[in-house]
Amino acid sequence: MCGFYCATSRGREVSAGEYVAQFEYVMDAIDLGDYPIISIYNDGNIFNEREMPVDAIEKICSYIDGYQSIRKVVVESRIDYTPDGHVQRMKKALNGRQLEVAFGFESANPLVMNLCINKGFSANNFDVFHSRMRSMGVLTKPLLLVKPPFLTEAESIRDILATVSYCVSRGIDYVDLEVTTVEKNTVVHELWKNDLYRPPWLWSLVDILQRCRAQFGDHAHVYVSPWTYSVESLDGARNCGVCDAEITAAIERYNCRFDTAEFEGLDCSCRDGGWKEAVTAKTPLTIPERIREQLAFVRQARLSSL
Ligand SMILES: [Zn+2]
Repeated sequence: MCGFYCATSRGREVSAGEYVAQFEYVMDAIDLGDYPIISIYNDGNIFNEREMPVDAIEKICSYIDGYQSIRKVVVESRIDYTPDGHVQRMKKALNGRQLEVAFGFESANPLVMNLCINKGFSANNFDVFHSRMRSMGVLTKPLLLVKPPFLTEAESIRDILATVSYCVSRGIDYVDLEVTTVEKNTVVHELWKNDLYRPPWLWSLVDILQRCRAQFGDHAHVYVSPWTYSVESLDGARNCGVCDAEITAAIERYNCRFDTAEFEGLDCSCRDGGWKEAVTAKTPLTIPERIREQLAFVRQARLSSL
């Protein structure tokens, strides 16, 4: 589902000097002193030396150290590209400020992780990562994927609830939901073109947020990430078209305080219509069978279009 490689430098290294220059540009453009929390986001893995030199991180942290108001810095990195040494150097350079590492956890279900997403690690690796970070005094923020390919609408709701429950059991009370969009040159794009994928309904998101509140209370603060990513989205979470703006606005208000009261009174004919149909739809196929069948269909469609 991730088309980010279309927005990369395609292998050309970005130097430490270029990263530092980007940060200096931002420092000139806005007053970072107005912000208690900042995110240094490189659209990839900040602790992967091949993507971002540690020298650049340390220089940027020395600038951050000049702002009394900044209490916390958030970065993102895959757990397998996050060596302790790099994290420790950044933590030290932040001079007592909190460091939080966000990472794509996606799903606690190994079948979803390995077959639907092709992630390359599983919940066990996450447990080890989480305790490594905790022992260094670093916070972790799992990012969960809402509706990976090959899952039904109902399965994707259950998958998120099970994954939030897993995170809560590990003492993590803040998670982000990343809502799948359709990006060019991805498997999801191919499936979508052939009517084999539809992004999640906004009602599914409302349902997830309400269920999380009921099940976990204050043990889970579930935030919905912004709707679009660094590359263009051809399609994204939506309802019938009529109620979309209202539901999207309610989710954005919810995000400010995690208050599910924002969803009270919301309704539209599509809730009992299209959405209900989607969440009750079933398939007799197992996940591996679906993947085999859908990819074969996509391959055939491509061949016949040549
Ligand atoms: Zn509607």
